[in-house]
Amino acid sequence: MVTGQLERRGIRDRKVLDAMAAIPRETFVPGVPTSLAYDDRALPIDAGQTISQPYMVARMTELLEVQPGDRILEVGTGSGYQAAVLAWLGARVTSIERHQALSDEARERLAQLAKVAWLGVEAVDLRVGDGSLGEPEGAPWDGIVVTAAGPSIPDALREQLAVGARLVIPVGPRERQELIVVERRSAADWTEWSDGAVVFVPLVGEAGWPP
Ligand code: SAH
Repeated sequence: MVTGQLERRGIRDRKVLDAMAAIPRETFVPGVPTSLAYDDRALPIDAGQTISQPYMVARMTELLEVQPGDRILEVGTGSGYQAAVLAWLGARVTSIERHQALSDEARERLAQLAKVAWLGVEAVDLRVGDGSLGEPEGAPWDGIVVTAAGPSIPDALREQLAVGARLVIPVGPRERQELIVVERRSAADWTEWSDGAVVFVPLVGEAGWPP
C-alpha cells in the first residue's frame, strides 16, 4: 500500500508514509479480509459510512503538516483510522462523529491499539455530535480535517484555525467535490486552494447538508 499506492501517487512526507505503514488498517474494517483492507479504495464501515481510501488519508494528513504536539480537530471519526494516523504522528487529536455507534466502535479499536505502546495512539479525544461548526471551546486548532463533504466551507472552521494552521475539507455538490485547503496567514487573512477532485460521504449538520 505504501509503495504501490501512496509513494507512486506522490505522497512524499516520510512521517506520513511511516504512520500509514505502522497503523494496522485491517483493525478498522472488521469483517473485511486483511488483504482487502489495504486495497486502493474506500471501504464500507457501519451506519452507511466509509473509511477513506488510503491515498486520501495520506494526502489529507500530508496537507495538514502535522508537528508533534499539535492539537488537531477531526470532523468525522468514522472508523477512527485517520485519527490513529494523526495520533501516531504525535498530534493530540479531538475527533467528532455524529453517529454514536461509530464513535463507540472507534473508541474500542483505539483502546486496543493504545495497548501497543509503540503505536502511540492514546492521545485521541472522541466526541459525539455535529462537528460541522467545529469545536470552539478547543480553538484555536493547529489543524482541522473534515472527512465528510459539505456544500461550502463553514466560516466557524476558518475562525477556529490558529495563525499558520490549515483546514482540509472536501467541498462541493453531493456527487463530486474539490479537496480544499484553507491556510490562515494572519488574524484576518486566509488563503485557499484546491488539491483536486474527490468524492466523500456528506457532511450532515448545521453547516453541512440537512439530514
Ligand atoms: N475519518 C474517517 C472517515 C469517515 S467517513 C475514517 O478514518 O474512517 C465520514 C464520517 O463523517 C462518517 O462517519 C459520518 O458519520 C461523519 N459525519 C458526517 N457529518 C458529520 C458531522 N456534521 N459531524 C460529525 N461527523 C460527521
